[in-house]
Amino acid sequence: MNNRILSDRILNLGESATLEMTRLSRELKANGIDVITLSIGEPDFDTPENVKQAGKVAIDNNITHYPPVPGFLELREAIAGKLKRDNGLDFKPDQIVVSTGAKHSLINVFMCILNDGDEVIIPAPYWVSYPEMVKLSGGTPVVIDAGIDNDFKVTPEQLEKAITPKTKAFLFNSPSNPTGSVYSREELKALADVLVKHPDIVIVADEIYEYINFDGKHESLASFDEITDQVVIVNGVSKGMAMTGWRIGYVAGPKFIADACTKIQGQYTSGTGTISQMAALEAVKTDPKTSEALKTMLQAFEERRDLLVDLVKDIPGMKSNVPNGAFYLFPDVSYYYGKSDGETIIHNSTELCMYLLNKAHVALVPGEAFGSPECIRLSYATSKDLIAEAVSRIKEALAKLS
Ligand code: PMP
Ligand code: GLU
Repeated sequence: MNNRILSDRILNLGESATLEMTRLSRELKANGIDVITLSIGEPDFDTPENVKQAGKVAIDNNITHYPPVPGFLELREAIAGKLKRDNGLDFKPDQIVVSTGAKHSLINVFMCILNDGDEVIIPAPYWVSYPEMVKLSGGTPVVIDAGIDNDFKVTPEQLEKAITPKTKAFLFNSPSNPTGSVYSREELKALADVLVKHPDIVIVADEIYEYINFDGKHESLASFDEITDQVVIVNGVSKGMAMTGWRIGYVAGPKFIADACTKIQGQYTSGTGTISQMAALEAVKTDPKTSEALKTMLQAFEERRDLLVDLVKDIPGMKSNVPNGAFYLFPDVSYYYGKSDGETIIHNSTELCMYLLNKAHVALVPGEAFGSPECIRLSYATSKDLIAEAVSRIKEALAKLS
């Protein structure tokens, strides 16, 4: 027997490049090589003490039985409270479904709304898993390109042009992974003006980087009254609360979509882990405006962003924007394509990342995976010392290419 027994579905599925590069860097590390990992996008901070404590209390109180499929009511009430507190939005608990990370929330939504051939408009650069999730759900990704010269943001004209009678959804992410771009309220309003003319388009707003925003207040597409009913918010505690391993994400949207997500989740995963849910309850009750843990994290990310942007300026041929959120830099490195160190010719971002992994021992993610082959992604969710060391290694290795 061989892998031809596998389904077309899985054979056609691309591997997650973020996880793949991180796997390669772990392998090199296991062989004693001092690799600096700027590939995985996760806070290097630990989960706040009060949140960890809530998880421990849940174990001690035997909150270890099957939970309700959409999540504990208490948690969904707290999420509704969070959406009111942080975003001024009114959601009832029965419009909210808690899942195993925002990734799971996203695929739930696509599985629930897409029929074969339905189109989903995705601005590029996009997060690696978006097109694969859409395809897995039978949909067709329709990519619109936002270049570095427009701070990686799509225009209302581009969005309008991409809409066809088959458009089912618009998948939007701000602050963005991989570019760190944050849309202003005016820019969001311009997109809302287009979307309001198409009331049957579902707007999936991935707001997982909400709290990592150096511009100040997060703006949600759902806050434009004229399109609120079209928006499904995807969020979670992974990034903002340094809880990647707890695997808690959620959707908040029209009740019929929440009901559909519950139905699908009821068939293939059930409600997500009880201990994680109780820790998430503590996390979502945390007001970001008063949380010292959050302030410390945000300040550290901003300082690192400044450092990295500054250091990258000194690398010839590397062109970058100044990201205002998340913890990624996404420079254009196409200047190096076609160059060689005498041994290896670099044709594209994947080859450049492999070269930098093997020669500079720095793990990055190729832009191809994000729909922008001219770029590479650096995650700066690591210490300033490691960032400085990584950039110096990258600079040295790139200098060998001519
Ligand atoms: N959306 C984006 C844009 C992300 O970067 C991530 C990070 N993995 C996710 C969703 C998924 O988050 P989670 O870890 O909660 O599944
Ligand atoms: N979202 C993170 C990243 O882009 C985590 C890895 C993943 O889930 O793909 O690196």
